[in-house]
Amino acid sequence: MNINLKLTNAPKAKPTDESKLGFGALFSDHMLVRKWTMENGWEDAEIVPFENFSLSPASAVFHYGAEIFEGLKAYRTAEGKVQLFRPIENVRRMNQSADRLCMPEMPEEEMLECIKKLVEVEKDWVPHSEGTSLYLRPFLIGTDPKLGVHTVHQCTFCIIASPSGSYYAEGINPVKIMIETEDVRAVRGGTGYAKCGGNYAASYRAGHKAELKGYSQVLWLDGVEQKYIEEVGAMNVMFKIDGTIVTPALLGSVLPGITRKSCIELLKSKGFKVEERKISAEELFTALKEGRLEEAWGTGTAAVVSPIGELAYKGEKYEINNFKIGETTQMLYDVLTGIQWGKVEDEFNWIVKVD
Ligand SMILES: *Cc1c(COP(=O)(O)O)cnc(C)c1O
Repeated sequence: MNINLKLTNAPKAKPTDESKLGFGALFSDHMLVRKWTMENGWEDAEIVPFENFSLSPASAVFHYGAEIFEGLKAYRTAEGKVQLFRPIENVRRMNQSADRLCMPEMPEEEMLECIKKLVEVEKDWVPHSEGTSLYLRPFLIGTDPKLGVHTVHQCTFCIIASPSGSYYAEGINPVKIMIETEDVRAVRGGTGYAKCGGNYAASYRAGHKAELKGYSQVLWLDGVEQKYIEEVGAMNVMFKIDGTIVTPALLGSVLPGITRKSCIELLKSKGFKVEERKISAEELFTALKEGRLEEAWGTGTAAVVSPIGELAYKGEKYEINNFKIGETTQMLYDVLTGIQWGKVEDEFNWIVKVD
């Protein structure tokens, strides 16, 4: 694979006020594009100016959800260097998602090189203020210009980059989460474990309903019995019950989060007992009522960890840890962000330096 550079001669001005970056609305000067066809496989990659796509309105992505994506960040260290956190995990998950949707996988080292090269070209777009990052969004879309439902014969892989503000500019405040009892996100055998747009299409209605009631996200129950906890919106979920960390097992309908995996590895290294298993809403609320649910938090690349201060379930509201961040949640936040921003020694070898 070659990565051909066609750089812009009209670079945009970088944002001057990094406190107003927000998330996902501003994009860097370039994007990486790599096309695939069933006949010829992967073409060379190109880094080109960020611009609109030209696609047939019949493209598979518009009609049948032929789309998968990833999300990771490039971080700037105190020394001004740029680094990535476990990017190989995103590469592997992207290929697992591709497998589920019958889309082409890309050799791991080539996808990793695409990510690193784009970050290298766009390194001046990695913001400098505490808590900010350059969010990277690799995605793969089916572009076959035919309405028949067949596995895709042509695809476009693309990575765009968006300088993003600090998630916790106003401090780490606990969130309110609503347990969804009608809609389901995914079922075993479906696409729950794949990072695909289709899962989000299934989640819009419940998310909207929760938002209208003042909740920031939905906590999904399993799609069969609607009894077991699965995950929160775009985050996995963990509970500390009687000192033990409990998180739903990966049984096919839950997205295998890289932050989840990192938290588990970190917790185990600190001597915590971690159980990956089924946990029912009933077990959770029994523990809560008996005062044994010490902490609850979501995990994901965007927020790293997000303490859950209130759960709503079947019309009742339940407060967790007096709506305060717990010590385990805080420890996970401090260590993971410390490693990401190069302030804590990376004893797990998770960091990949870009420059
Ligand atoms: C991306 C995502 C997560 C979190 O995964 P990370 O790799 O930790 O960012 C959790 N749930 C869903 C549905 C997701 O799409």
